[in-house]
Order: sequence, then structure tokens, then C-alpha cells
Amino acid sequence: MIKLIMIVLPLLASFMSCTVYKNSDFSLLRSQEPFFAENTPDYIDDAELFDAKKKISLTVLQSGKLLSSLSQMINLKHPACAEMTDQSLTVPIYAYLLTHEEHGIYMIDTGVSNDYVNNNYGNMKGLLLPFVMSKTVVRSENTIENILNSMNIKVEKLKGVFFTHLHFDHTSGLSSFPRPLLLVAGADEFSPNIPVLLKPGHFRKSDILYRIAFDQKYASDSSIGRVVDIFGDGSIWAIWTPGHSKGHISYLVNTCDGPVLVAGDALMNYHSIKYGCGPGKCFDGVDKAQATIDRLISFIKKNPQVRVLAGHDYPTDNE
Ligand SMILES: [Zn+2]
Repeated sequence: MIKLIMIVLPLLASFMSCTVYKNSDFSLLRSQEPFFAENTPDYIDDAELFDAKKKISLTVLQSGKLLSSLSQMINLKHPACAEMTDQSLTVPIYAYLLTHEEHGIYMIDTGVSNDYVNNNYGNMKGLLLPFVMSKTVVRSENTIENILNSMNIKVEKLKGVFFTHLHFDHTSGLSSFPRPLLLVAGADEFSPNIPVLLKPGHFRKSDILYRIAFDQKYASDSSIGRVVDIFGDGSIWAIWTPGHSKGHISYLVNTCDGPVLVAGDALMNYHSIKYGCGPGKCFDGVDKAQATIDRLISFIKKNPQVRVLAGHDYPTDNE
């Protein structure tokens, strides 16, 4: 066992530090319109964040489940959550369908593909899988292909995917989507891809992954953090929410039914809002994740009209 740990730990360390998806896999190009308006204002106030010029609708799709634990969902070492006992949890995996009145159909994250119906690791490969990856379970009717099919939405109509981050439970439906497809993630976000040991298999070599940079030239400050107006019309804002992962993005979507915060894994469980403790898994540092959750909670409390969608929790009265 000790031998195994000695082998796995250095591998994990390299997995965490390596920038994967090098240019041989992806061209890391900066996107052109509409994602990067230049000379953005220094600061956007809350009223401006909610002032959308175009309409957009959002549908929550639950596609599969992840075999996880409470300690992965929330930080049980945080004083406010220290009394809780860790337990196994089976948590939902989500994708979000966006329909923009002018730009068409997009998704935030991808759900789970048919590959996972008879295999907990789907099309992921590698010797490390059982040690570093949680298992996924999905019934045939809940794969992303079949959910979209049941809604009469042809995958060919999909224009692109905005990722909260590149962990497999957020990218695994991608293998079923036709290409070319606009794929957008945060700057510095990476997905593990180590030959023989760990290969997600969700992206293709021909894919181009566009990056949202939250630097001064392209992003603005706001009370919820650094933000980018994705379509330039206020309908959907990308919010830089690092901590769970380095380039994690949450999205504020100004839907026809009011504003919705798609938090992703910056806020995995509604306990985080109630008790103030951040996510349990923090690949980019517990302190960063806590600073992010503090900002999100403060924004939610100031703006109770915002419906909050946690990354891996079932809807509650916090939703
Ligand atoms: Zn996740």
C-alpha cells in the first residue's frame, strides 16, 4: 500500500502542476468577437450587471450522478462546518442549456454522454483512473444526448459550450457533440491528460479552446468579482471564481425569468451559503476558494432576487 502511495503521490503532484492540453492538443487562441470587448469599464455596479439588452433563457439539465462525499462538496475543516460528519453522497451532475434570442443555443458544461451508461469511467482511460477519479453513474434516459433528444433539440444546433471548468464531470458530454464547436474556458484552466496514466477523451485534437482572460483589458471589477460581458449585451456575465480550480468561471445569466447564478463548483452544495464554508476540493487553494465563496455569498445576500444554482446539489429553498 505504501509503495502504491509512493508511486501515486508524485504522479498526482505532476498532474496538478503540469499544464496539459498543450498546443499539440489545443490551439489556445484568444477569441475574437463577441467574447472580448476591449476597453471595458473599470467597474460595473450591481444594477448594470442585471441590465440585459437581450433576452436569454436557461434550462437546467440533470445528466447523471457522481459518487462523492460531503467532504468533497464542502470544506469540513472550516470552523462553521467542523461539526458535520463526513458521509458518502451521490450528487447530481448538471449541464445548462442557454437560448439567446440573437446568438442561438449554447450550453454551460456538458452533462454526461452515452459512454457512461455501462462504464463508470466512460471514455476516460488510464491506469490512475480508479485512484483519482470519482465514479459516474447515468441511466440511458439521462445522458445528454437523450435529454436533448427528448427536448427536440438537435445537437447540430448547438453553437458552443461555456465551461465552468475542465474537470471530467463538466466536460464528459462533449464527446457526443458534433464539431466544429465553440469551446470556452477560463485562462489557466486545464484538464489532466497524462499519456498511459490519465486521458479524459472528451476533447478532440482538432478542438480549439478559447480562453476568457480576466485581465484589465478585457474584464471589469464588480461586487461579485472580475466579470466579462460575454455577448456584449449584458445577457450573460462570466465571473472569475478561482479556488476549486485555477481558471474556474461562474456565470450570471439574466434570463427572461430573472437573474440566475450558475455557480459551478465554486459553490457545490447549498450548505456553503448557509454556513459560509467553501468547497471541499480546492485544486487552486482553500484560501482562494474561501475568498470566492465569501464574495458570492455577499452578492447573493445583497441581491436576493438572484436564483442560485449550486454545482452538485439538489434544488432547495436556497435555489
Ligand atoms: Zn464538479
